[in-house]
Amino acid sequence: MTVKAYAAHAADQPLAPFAISRREPGPQDVVIEIAFCGVCHSDLHTVRSEWGGTLYPCVPGHEIVGTVSAVGSAVTRFAAGDTVGVGCIVDSCRTCSACGEGLEQYCDGGLTGTYNSPTPDAPGHTLGGYAQRIVVDESYVLAIRHKPEQLAAVAPLLCAGITTWSPLRHWNAGPGKRVGVVGIGGLGHMGIKLARALGAHVTGFTTSPPKRQAILDLGAHEVVVSTDKAAMKAAQSSLDLIINTVSHSHDLDPFLGLLRRDGTMVMVGAPEKPHPAIGVFNLLIRRRSLAGSLIGGIAETQEMLDFCAEHGVVSDIEVICMDEIEHAYSRMVKGDVRYRFVIDNSTI
Ligand code: NAP
Ligand code: ZN
Ligand code: ZN
Repeated sequence: MTVKAYAAHAADQPLAPFAISRREPGPQDVVIEIAFCGVCHSDLHTVRSEWGGTLYPCVPGHEIVGTVSAVGSAVTRFAAGDTVGVGCIVDSCRTCSACGEGLEQYCDGGLTGTYNSPTPDAPGHTLGGYAQRIVVDESYVLAIRHKPEQLAAVAPLLCAGITTWSPLRHWNAGPGKRVGVVGIGGLGHMGIKLARALGAHVTGFTTSPPKRQAILDLGAHEVVVSTDKAAMKAAQSSLDLIINTVSHSHDLDPFLGLLRRDGTMVMVGAPEKPHPAIGVFNLLIRRRSLAGSLIGGIAETQEMLDFCAEHGVVSDIEVICMDEIEHAYSRMVKGDVRYRFVIDNSTI
């Protein structure tokens, strides 16, 4: 079936209207009419091939919400009319130990990403949510239980939400824990909301002083402007866990110094260029850890969505028309987004 989408044809080309084909639904497939798609910084890294290896034409988008229009004969969990989501994963090997543990994001066979991953479907790699419709195996489709009017603001939970939820849960953020979130963009603002909803004491670290009040309004107990050396010194050795979401290469040492004994800084930001080498004494003293985390598994994503529906957690968004995407990207590069752009897919 032919579907209208927006695609880039090269790293230096803007996104433009493009017709793509989706596979005819097989027995396990769910056909989804996409209502909204969030704009993740990973979309921009990929479209511009900042990580290398982008397959063109590239249709990004992995924060997808919409309505089921048809299901295959063997589908049991979804029916036409259901409100559903699709995040960053549309398939995995299903047999390795990671898949067996519901950690499809660490699939030994390699997960199939929602875009830019090899697939038997034309054109040979997956095409994401900047499109009218998508066809996904039901095992990788999420149920959305928020109110209908919240749907656009739910979309960013499918990547920004789960990418911060997974490390918060893995490293036991909750009452009595002091959590820092570095970089308050799409991921960071969800990190603050989720850490707060889990009961942790939350500090936001930003390079943007004008965001201070807004970060408190998101639920942070404290805000530190990370370029303010005195404020950073005052916060030394105070945190159990840091979620670092920054999309650019930066000096990690000042942030490692914020950890108390046995604290961990988890890197989720994935910049184009490596961070400068860290000072190893910043780890040795206080037995600190530096870790990384990749999105989250399917079961964990459903757990996060259900938690957010129950606690009224959604993303703070700015809805855009599809043809505003390049302007949205340029604002994202400047850090000028409060806090997630979401495409209204009816404008494609
Ligand atoms: P975003 O909305 O652009 O937010 C990034 C934030 O980082 C900015 O708002 C800004 O916050 C801060 N920042 C930007 N440039 C900076 C600089 N030069 N120095 C210091 N701080 C800077 O991006 P996002 O969508 O949240 O994504 C963040 C990163 O996570 C991207 O690299 C993305 O690819 C990656 N990501 C990883 C995963 C994963 O599975 N690990 C999943 C999704 C995304 P302040 O203004 O508050 O400083
Ligand atoms: Zn993403
Ligand atoms: Zn696997």
